[in-house]
Order: sequence, then C-alpha cells, then structure tokens
Amino acid sequence: MRVYKRETERLKRAENLIGEKFPRFGVNKNREIVRLIYEISKREDIPSEAVLPADCPLAFGRLKEYLLKRRFPESSAGSGSLRSYLPGFSLDLENCLQPRPGPFRPRRIFVEESARNSDLAGAFRAAFPRAEYSEIPTLKHFLAGRKYGGIPEYNKRTETAFIVSEEFDFFKRCPCTPRAVPCGYHIFNLSFGCIYECAYCYLQEYANVPGIIFPANIEKFLERFASYRNLPSSRSFQRGPFLRLGTGEFSDSLMLDDLTGYSIPLVEFFSRQDGVIFEFKTKSANIENLLRLDPAGKIVIAWSLNPQKIIDDNELYTANLSERLDAARRVAEAGYGLAFHFDPVFYFRGWEDEYRGVIESLFSLIDPERIAWISLGTLRFKPSLKKIIESRFPANQILDAEMVLGYDNKLRYPAPIRSRIYRFLIDELEKHHRALPLYLCMEERSLWRELKLPFPF
Ligand code: SF4
Repeated sequence: MRVYKRETERLKRAENLIGEKFPRFGVNKNREIVRLIYEISKREDIPSEAVLPADCPLAFGRLKEYLLKRRFPESSAGSGSLRSYLPGFSLDLENCLQPRPGPFRPRRIFVEESARNSDLAGAFRAAFPRAEYSEIPTLKHFLAGRKYGGIPEYNKRTETAFIVSEEFDFFKRCPCTPRAVPCGYHIFNLSFGCIYECAYCYLQEYANVPGIIFPANIEKFLERFASYRNLPSSRSFQRGPFLRLGTGEFSDSLMLDDLTGYSIPLVEFFSRQDGVIFEFKTKSANIENLLRLDPAGKIVIAWSLNPQKIIDDNELYTANLSERLDAARRVAEAGYGLAFHFDPVFYFRGWEDEYRGVIESLFSLIDPERIAWISLGTLRFKPSLKKIIESRFPANQILDAEMVLGYDNKLRYPAPIRSRIYRFLIDELEKHHRALPLYLCMEERSLWRELKLPFPF
C-alpha cells in the first residue's frame, strides 16, 4: 500500500509537470514524455520535478532525445538504433499483489465429472477438507461465456483449483522465440498455473483461467507419449541423441509434488524409456517423492538459480538459494542428473559479485560431473508484460534497468550487455569445470557465434 501510494504520487507529479510545462503536447507525446520522466525519477530516486534541467529543450523531438539518453545511457551510447517501449500506466490498487497469508490452501475446488473418482481428487479432498467442492461437466463448459477478470483475478488464482481430465494438449515442441537458436526441447503439458509469484513470470499475462489446473489422468499422457515421440515433426525437432522433454513450462514441476505425487508415475515411466531424458524444473525443495524412486540415469532435476537478493525481491514464496542447492545435492546422491538454469539473469549494480557467489555456492556442493546441462538466459519478456509487472509489483527494480525492444520484439537488455553477462557467466562456470554442457536459452545466433559457444547436445 505504501509503495503503491509512493508510485502513484510519482506518476501524478510527472503528469502535472508535463501538463503545466508542455500543455500543447497531444496524447501520444504526453504519454511518452510522462513515461520517461516517471522512469527516470524512479531509476535515479529523485522527484519527478528534478528530472528536467532548467535549460531543458522545449521542442518534443529534442526533449525526448534528451530523456531517452538519460533513461537508456548504455543503449544510447551504442551504434544501433534504440527501440524503446513507452506505454501508458495501469497503476491500480486492485492490481497490486497482496501478501499471501499462508501456504497454498484453495477455497474452491472444481472437479470435472470424469475426474470425480481420481486419486488426485481424493488427495485434494484429504488435504483441503474445508474447501468448497463443485462438480463441473468440463473446464471448457465452466469457462464458456465467462469473462476473465484480468490481473485482480490472477492475484487470487491460488484460491481456486480445477481438477481435470486432459484430452488433447499432452505434448508440444517448445516454441522458443523468433530468430533464436532452438534447443529442441519438448514440453510435457502438465498443470497450468503456479503457486509462486515471480515478478517476471509470463503467466501473469498469458493466463486466462481463474485458478490453477491440475490434470488427474497422467496415465493418458504416458499412453500418448509413444505416438508423439514417433511423429516425424517430433523427431526432426530433436537435437542430439536424446529427446529432451520436461514439465515446468506452464507451472513449477515440483511445487506441490507432496500433494499431487506427479513425479512418481513420471519417474517410473521415463526411467524405462530409451533415448529420452526427462526434466523436472523447479524453484522448490519438494523432493521427498523423488528420493524414494529409482531414476535409472534417465531423469534430470533442474533448478533455476539467482542471487538470494533477487529471489527475495522477485521470486516470492519459492525456496531460497541454499535450499535449492541442498535439494540438488540430495537428489544427485539419489542418482538423478542435475541441470541449472541461470534464467532469467538480471543486470544490476554489483551483478558480477552476486552471480560469482551463486556459482561458488553451486560448486561447493555439487559435483560438476552430475550436471546434464546449464542454460543461460537474460531477463526478457513481451512488452505487454511491462505494465503488468509495474502494477502488480510497484516496488520492482527489474524495470529500472535498460530494457529495450530486442531482435524478437521482446524487451531485453541491449545485445552488448547480454554478451557481457554471458561471457562473464561462462568464464566463471568454466573455472570450475572446463567441459560443462552450456547453452543459451532464446538467444540470437549472432550471440552464440560471438561467444564461440558450441551447441552441447
Ligand atoms: S516458478 Fe515459474 S511458473 Fe511459477 S511464478 Fe515463477 S516463473 Fe512463473
């Protein structure tokens, strides 16, 4: 509430300033200049009125040029053209994320008729006896004609669970991003929605269901796997000797594994598949089921890694860094392969020391030989997410960095900054082991070339 007030006040002052000083600006010019004043004021931690110097240019073109240089100093210094994104605002108290009082405890649980007698519905009934249960013909039927309530509804999504029988959407190829080098990953489409709150999460913009969806018929996914794998389009997409496949695209793979038990049939099934490596991706330390299973060398557990200060500010309710690394150590001892995703990597004052610290902590606990792959990817997101992040997390600092429209029209750090970050991370990682299987996630070919990074699969 306090931060929301501070940011709306900052915005109001920027609007008043431009309204008084440049009353002839039309709507679009006004929006761009107000946006620049607001962002400079926030980034430099000064009042909006202090942004404009006494001798500031009065013509729109020169004023914007001055403000862009100040807002994006590193991008402006480069030779390429600076593609900024300067939208209006959606600051609204209703959009702000409020602290969650306790662990995940849905108040309403909708069960599709076909999932009525499933083990998963039974597990939810046992875990949440006070929730209100309703049976629905199908989720599609439930949603028909219902208007999604946007961010305020997204903020309340953990109050509602849908237990469904998935019939169509079992697997797909990772869509990657236009003009990037794809890594040939396949998505096992298990669950939609997440109990965590990462400030950068694309689900904030992508979700259109007022709750979290849990499939109850995992056996159907497993039945369909052989036919998916044999599709010519699946085979041609694969890179290297193994088909890489995993959950964790539309949810966190292990966030509620103690409740859903999803890992049990998955490990039992994929540990018997030849030519396939299955990956669970998580920010949790929910590994007890895994420790009781035999992965037979075919299962990889992956953690996303970031400095603790980034986790504290941007990955709410997730396990902290030392819990993630300790969980990794324990699953490695139980025979699992490991993967780590330095993704998203953030650019901020002191980033080198912070990421060096993460890498040192990683190798103080983990034998590099157990690592199946490490991906690197700097922060990026669709422009439409910018206003959502700003309105849900008004205190965020991630938008204060220089994020400009990149090669795929997503907001990204400029290429020279990304290159510097990747070079640093690769060098630091390789100090600990020369032959780590590293790859860039959603990055353009020119950066791969510049970094002389061989494709690891
Ligand atoms: S853990 Fe992943 S899916 Fe969950 S909120 Fe964070 S980014 Fe989104």
